[in-house]
Amino acid sequence: MFNINDKIKDISDKALVSVRPYFDRIDEITEYNQQKMLKAFIDNRVSESMFAESTGYGYDDRGRETIDKVFAQAVGAEDSIVRHNFTCGTHTLAVALFGVLRTGDTMLCVTGTPYDTIQPVIGLSGKDGMGSLKDYGIKYEQVELDENGRIDLEAIENAVSDKIKMVYIQRSRGYNLRASLSVDEIGEIVKVSKRKNPNVIVMVDNCYGEFVEKTEPVSVGADLIAGSLIKNPGGAIAKTGGYIAGRHDLVEKCACRLTTPGLGREVGATLGQSRELFMGIYNAPRVVGEAVKTAVFASQVMKLMGFGVTPEPDEIRHDIIQAIKLETPDNLIAFCKGLQKGSPIDSFVTPEPWDMPGYDCRVIMSAGAFTLGSSIELSGDAPLREPFAVWMQGGTDFHASKIGVLLAAQEVMQANE
Ligand SMILES: *Cc1c(COP(=O)(O)O)cnc(C)c1O
Repeated sequence: MFNINDKIKDISDKALVSVRPYFDRIDEITEYNQQKMLKAFIDNRVSESMFAESTGYGYDDRGRETIDKVFAQAVGAEDSIVRHNFTCGTHTLAVALFGVLRTGDTMLCVTGTPYDTIQPVIGLSGKDGMGSLKDYGIKYEQVELDENGRIDLEAIENAVSDKIKMVYIQRSRGYNLRASLSVDEIGEIVKVSKRKNPNVIVMVDNCYGEFVEKTEPVSVGADLIAGSLIKNPGGAIAKTGGYIAGRHDLVEKCACRLTTPGLGREVGATLGQSRELFMGIYNAPRVVGEAVKTAVFASQVMKLMGFGVTPEPDEIRHDIIQAIKLETPDNLIAFCKGLQKGSPIDSFVTPEPWDMPGYDCRVIMSAGAFTLGSSIELSGDAPLREPFAVWMQGGTDFHASKIGVLLAAQEVMQANE
């Protein structure tokens, strides 16, 4: 149906045989997480009437109140807020940071330079006076990753003192070639940090990590986690939004930052979004399983074609991102074009590299998604600079996403003929 040539078919068949045991491992995690989610729905007596929309102030919206409890239970947290009002992941993380930090506090990031869009929030880049943490007198310190791109527990232990209010961890690699953190590694950071300062707040940027493992960072002592609903936890159904979960007192502060002190979580019309948010979080564990399978398959296919991949096909995953070192700009462009051809939406358009704001080089992206910018749907991003790697993620169902991966591989093969 898709004009996939015999060479690529052969690579695909070989790849499928190799990844079978890894798929079994993924299925086992998906089953556990999906049943955990079902249990959270049952225990909190979710009913169809909760999907009703509220307008205006949105007082006493039972859907809004219940989804907070369901999601908190599913991620093993005391409390959570799940809202369509968060505009994106960056906004959600910013609300959490401003929610708990105060003038004079110090935030310590222990996973090297944070994700690009978080830097202006902290005040590391961008214009002064726009309301960054720095503008409000909140200080920032950073512990670098070690030479292998792993967390440096000794340096973290040395950096955490009574003066540190928050230890900040980025779980996913972002658009970087470092490894993602496992929940266990996050647990080690929590242990050394709290040994030095029992009052320190550990916050995790959990983007791309949700439901990839059987537990989330709150289960190993993180106080607060946050992420975007157009990535893993929205199950490719939520149209927009974000979540913050963790300790009840901290989540309350974040709710007061999202709205205002005094109003907190008691306001916020759901405008008919509740059904999709419930459906999204319900479907998230299964969809994440499909995305992880797509990543593992892509890793194996591109490795068989002779490219460097990270993670390797057999590595245990901690997020849904797959980086592929394609070596040349032409290969990057070919890969993104092929991936786009295998997308359900906008399959007929040809992605082109462009000068995206905030980048120091041209970037090419492929995104044929139902939701604009949704990266739980099959998508790829590649800055046209060394090491000429593409970061691929998402795929709501392996059977279709497999085609996107194979068409991408075929374009790369043809570009080199
Ligand atoms: C996506 C992402 C963000 C920001 O989310 P947006 O929805 O793009 O604003 C922050 N941190 C990490 C690690 C991410 O992957």
